[in-house]
Amino acid sequence: MAFDDMDVDTIWMDGEFVDWDDAQTHVLTHSLHYGTGVFEGARCYDTVDGPALFRWEEHLDRLFDSAKVLDHDIDHTRETLTDATLSLIREQGLASCYIRPLVYYGYNSLGVSPKDCPTRTTIACWPWGTYLGEEAIEEGVDVMVSSWRKHASSQLPTNVKATGPYLNSMLAGEEARRNGYVEAIVLNKEGNVAEGPGENIFMINDGELFTTGVSESTLDGITRDTVIELARDLGYTVHDEASIGRGELYTADELFFTGTAAEVTPIRSVDDTTVGNGSRGPITEELQQQFFDLVEGRLDGYDEWFLEV
Ligand code: PMP
Repeated sequence: MAFDDMDVDTIWMDGEFVDWDDAQTHVLTHSLHYGTGVFEGARCYDTVDGPALFRWEEHLDRLFDSAKVLDHDIDHTRETLTDATLSLIREQGLASCYIRPLVYYGYNSLGVSPKDCPTRTTIACWPWGTYLGEEAIEEGVDVMVSSWRKHASSQLPTNVKATGPYLNSMLAGEEARRNGYVEAIVLNKEGNVAEGPGENIFMINDGELFTTGVSESTLDGITRDTVIELARDLGYTVHDEASIGRGELYTADELFFTGTAAEVTPIRSVDDTTVGNGSRGPITEELQQQFFDLVEGRLDGYDEWFLEV
């Protein structure tokens, strides 16, 4: 859905709440030219106890880690960013939404070195359903292995969320969609599975879970971590630093993506090869159910992952 069709009117910019239409930046903004920003994607869920941010502290941790790698000095505290986010959600009457903090080098000069450019910080929230579509949650998605490889962490940081490296995600995802697929899987420099353009990937074989870790140029996703914990709590064995070859995608019993935006989305085919039974597999369904029960506040024992709005 386009922003103009949404009932949202405020964005937080550098300490101020501004009207949505006034949240502007100069065309000579450093990060617009060189991709030198860092960002987060978090969610507020409409839980049975009311709206609550899910794993917000972990998203803030990653935002500050990302900023550190790009040498951004965020001149706002975690508390300020948290208060701003809670106010945006309350004041706009949002029950569930996606939350996008962005930190970027602003306007001053345009050498590649950003050292004279100010670090700017913004937060926007808007309603956003599951990234790959409601139908995908039940039916699964058809994906292709991209001809684009994921950069190694010696080329661009892969353990944090910087804006520039998302060019790789954009190219891989658009290649897939141009070819009639919903999403891509990207291989790393060695030719093993890295992840999706905006998702981690899980493989299930013989009742055990396998997912790639940071050593495979994979982002240490917060949903990935959540699903690992849920799966272990259910008694499953999870191999969380697995190396997955391309061929294993075709022979897997089940595959699914995880991500804040994509939540838990089954993969039903890779390169037109059916995965498992060609629809959502039984363990994927169980974990997906557990995930939605969790984020909607129906599971006991995970209170520390929620921050009430
Ligand atoms: N990998 C990439 C490249 C991503 O952009 C994302 C989305 N942040 C993920 C994995 C999933 O991470 P998370 O569960 O923290 O959203």
